[in-house]
Amino acid sequence: MPQDSSLSTTREEVISLLDQLVRIESVTPWLISTGSGEAKIAMFMGQWLTKEGLEVTLEEVSPGRPNMLARLKGSGSGPTLCINAHSDTVGYENWADVALSPWVDGDRMYGLGVVDDKAGCAAAMLALRDLARSGVALNGDVLLACVIDEESTSTGSEHLAKHHTMDAAIIIEPSVMPVVVTEHQGFGWIEITVFGKASHGCAPEEGIDAIVHMAEVITRLDELSESTWAAHPDARNGATVFHTSTIKGGTDFATYPSRAVLGIEIGTQPGESLANRVKDIEKIFAEITIKRPNFRAEIEIKLERDPFMGTGREPLLAALNSATQEVLGTDILDRGWNAWTDAAILQASGVPTVLIGPKGGNLHSPNEWVEIDSVVEIVEVLKSTIVNFLK
Ligand SMILES: [Zn+2]
Repeated sequence: MPQDSSLSTTREEVISLLDQLVRIESVTPWLISTGSGEAKIAMFMGQWLTKEGLEVTLEEVSPGRPNMLARLKGSGSGPTLCINAHSDTVGYENWADVALSPWVDGDRMYGLGVVDDKAGCAAAMLALRDLARSGVALNGDVLLACVIDEESTSTGSEHLAKHHTMDAAIIIEPSVMPVVVTEHQGFGWIEITVFGKASHGCAPEEGIDAIVHMAEVITRLDELSESTWAAHPDARNGATVFHTSTIKGGTDFATYPSRAVLGIEIGTQPGESLANRVKDIEKIFAEITIKRPNFRAEIEIKLERDPFMGTGREPLLAALNSATQEVLGTDILDRGWNAWTDAAILQASGVPTVLIGPKGGNLHSPNEWVEIDSVVEIVEVLKSTIVNFLK
């Protein structure tokens, strides 16, 4: 670790860099069609790091949407440690007047994406800057990846895992030190279609009401969530996620609806896959069919993301623990989560991965905030972890 205090990041530097990052709109365009995407912010971060002497590449994942990669070269043939944060944000229509004009109030800074995940990008940039300026000898490389599309379908981290060799990775997402996340739920987006039979509103003997049948599916899903999924959570990862998301059905007031379509988001615990949840839903269908013989439905998986779990993290956790002791005077707290992150993608590709992050709130909603000092802490923890891991 650099002992010279001029090589440490200050609170003012965090505020200044975060202010610039938040002002660059980088709304994820596949989720929000008016979003600008990540090109402009990738260019800004790349230029900032190039000025600090880092080797920078903008790697296009899809047209106009690059991952920003910066490498701090080590001197030997040691491992490559990846620091991963995402450069995209969700939309901001509920607070459009101020979302892109960050402000500081006391210990906190407010703005769109300020903690999710621009503080992660800023902390990693400042950590690499400090290390580059200090000239500290590392035997392996640090690869900073500010990836696209995390708020949508995670194509940025998928591209990174496919095209780069890494020996370990630290994901930065909103959390709170000294928590280190080593496990979390997976999830799926499932579409359930219930088929009825269209008929004139005055011919009940001919019609089958798809919406009434769907109502029964929803009621039973909700009951199963209460009795089984929520009641038997994984001790580390919380109650299994379940909520309905979208619903469509029917054509007009005068006709029996021939179709009803429900979208749900549903979680999976470590050791499970979405096939477990599909089986649960098929059981509901079978029960409804006993009562309503003309019930007909099908399930389509729209997206499946595996839980985050795995092995091989011991050297990284040891490096992080020494860093946390040095910076915060305490050991790390090894925890699970109920939310999904790109950590699952990197770990599944064989890269031992853990997650840490700064403290904040109001994620994906108005007045998103980050605790400024917690970003300074992450910078210091990252620097110390990198030195410990690559010495
Ligand atoms: Zn995030």
